[in-house]
Amino acid sequence: MRLFDEKVVLRFLLVMASIFFALFIPEILSNKEYIFWSIPYILADFFLVVVAVLYRFPIIGNRKRMREDVNIAPPATAAVPIRDFKKDLMERDELFQMMVDISSNGFWTFDVVTGKVYWSQRAIKLLRASSNDAPDSFELLKSRIVESDWLNFKDELAASLASGEKFSTVVTLQGGSSKDVRLVVSGHVQLNADGRPIRIIGALNDASDKQDQEKQSYYYAYQDALTGVYNRKFFLEKLKVDVDMALQRPDYLFAVALLDINRFGAINTSYSINVGDRVLRVVADRIKSQCRANDTIARIGPDVFAIVLHDIQSGDDDSDVKAIVRRIHNAVKLPIQLEGRELYIGVSMAVALNREVDCVEDIMANVTSSLREMKKGAQQGGIQFFSGGIREKAMKLYKLEFDIRKAIQAQEFVLFYQPIVDIANGNRVVALEALVRWNQSENGFISPAEFIPIAEETGLIIPMGAQILKMACLQAKKWVDDGYTDLQVAVNFSAKQFALDNLVDDLKQVLLETHLNPKNLKLEITEYTAVCEADKTIAVMRALSGMGIQISIDDFGTGYSSLSHLKQFPIHTLKMDKSFVDHVVDDEEDASFARMVIGLAKSLNLDLIAEGVETEAQLDFLRSEGCRLIQGFYFSKPLSVNDTHEYLAKHYHAKKKVAEVGA
Ligand code: C2E
Ligand code: MG
Ligand code: MG
Repeated sequence: MRLFDEKVVLRFLLVMASIFFALFIPEILSNKEYIFWSIPYILADFFLVVVAVLYRFPIIGNRKRMREDVNIAPPATAAVPIRDFKKDLMERDELFQMMVDISSNGFWTFDVVTGKVYWSQRAIKLLRASSNDAPDSFELLKSRIVESDWLNFKDELAASLASGEKFSTVVTLQGGSSKDVRLVVSGHVQLNADGRPIRIIGALNDASDKQDQEKQSYYYAYQDALTGVYNRKFFLEKLKVDVDMALQRPDYLFAVALLDINRFGAINTSYSINVGDRVLRVVADRIKSQCRANDTIARIGPDVFAIVLHDIQSGDDDSDVKAIVRRIHNAVKLPIQLEGRELYIGVSMAVALNREVDCVEDIMANVTSSLREMKKGAQQGGIQFFSGGIREKAMKLYKLEFDIRKAIQAQEFVLFYQPIVDIANGNRVVALEALVRWNQSENGFISPAEFIPIAEETGLIIPMGAQILKMACLQAKKWVDDGYTDLQVAVNFSAKQFALDNLVDDLKQVLLETHLNPKNLKLEITEYTAVCEADKTIAVMRALSGMGIQISIDDFGTGYSSLSHLKQFPIHTLKMDKSFVDHVVDDEEDASFARMVIGLAKSLNLDLIAEGVETEAQLDFLRSEGCRLIQGFYFSKPLSVNDTHEYLAKHYHAKKKVAEVGA
């Protein structure tokens, strides 16, 4: 720290000296003896004053310049003038800006403290803006690129600031026609002595520029910037080398292992992206520490690592590979220490050897189907070795997925409706549950139990669910118009559908388009869906309830909800699962469970529907325990639209009429 300025001190001393000498001027003038010296004395004193005020002290300035030219830092105790230092920095910044302005690359800098962004002339040009109205903030970028890229860029920037890692992302300029203009935005974080980010220095290049692409690929082609292991591209290239080697040398054996972090999304959402990133780095380091130096480790998906174990000497029982994979698995799943707490992660691993495969695609298909099988099974979080049966099963699933996709486009799904009957009201139909049916041309009827789980796993349930909702609402509106005015149609919603951010708006839109009164619509969600992210679910349920849409908890009794959950959920109905109804008459445990659920629904003031009622004995039991709403084959199987029409004609009657009947 500088306490005083050299120039100021010198000036002060000179002024003090001139004042001191000036004190003697009256005496010199009054004494005739000194009169001859009085003129030069006064001139000399005046000269001192002039020097103090006007002179620029070249020696000091030169010394300072010399220090910087030869890059000698001033001693820690020496005072450094504040103004010169600032000016110097400004000059350096100006110089930097001039350099980047004349460069053919676009540059930008982001000052972390002031939040200001400097855009070079070339960067402004690449963003199709004019330098006169370019703001000194990211607003310039935001206003020029497509929204999804902007959100992605923001995430990259935040992650880079948190981790200190460089980043690179491709963005598309808005308003692109057939030939989209894509730019590569990359940034490098500058840290201060304490390791804190002070600014990001970034580049902006035309992604179609060949030279830039080469430069870009030079840095980013083979490495995963976050974890430092290889990326997917490199992994596949290495795998190809091994496959070729095995074709030439039939005894050459290698294995591919995939490692997937279970519920990684939940780590990101429950903690933060930074914690997620750190977990990925720890996992990468742990894999490295357990592999041999020549093995290839890569990150090939957000939370998926792939390992090629080259040239393995394995006996028939593959004991060597099994030992390495178990070692990796054990090391990775150890608790991770993060910010003073322990984080436990589940890890699924799948392994396939190159026996009987002769291309990269085949070995990858083997290992990914093993991983998929592993993640589906009850023993999630273990190790799955590939075997032939897995592949066959996977092929069947892939085909089904493909067929579902086609069926959605061709609108091949239809709805059947199963009546829900009020036995305390003359067996009156109060509601219908919409159940999807798929009559596939090749294989005939396929049960929803077979295709709904695949649709859920692949995300296809979203477009399929949207079709189903629209169909059900249109049909419900027709029935309301036919005079079944208080009939409710219940639509099943899967967890993925219920988690959609725009669910409430989408529902509003469908109701608006179909002109259906919300009171005629009911949503069925399972217990699992309801307790998943309970806080968010409650908020969504409240919004739906506010709109007048009722909610049922389906398959109640099979899952996870506690009494405290139930009390919080703004729901209207519980649907007791068929598995309890099945044995109410011959299993005392199921009978007491059914009694308990009936009591629970009463105490929470909820409607209760018993699902899957097939026999008179079951019905009598439920009636005697006070359960009045029944769904099951005893009354009706799910019916086509036409058959439902007939059923309604016979079994729907207005409440008033029932009261008369009951009276
Ligand atoms: P769920 O929502 O619990 O539907 C009740 C299931 O029980 C239906 O099977 C129905 O046909 C069957 N069921 C009703 N009463 C009886 C009975 O007395 N005996 C027997 N054996 N079965 C009875 P379904 O139609 O095969 O549907 C199975 C599951 O598939 C549904 O269970 C639901 O979870 C799902 N699902 C069906 N349609 C849709 C849909 O449109 N969207 C979604 N997300 N899931 C659906
Ligand atoms: Mg249901
Ligand atoms: Mg059910």
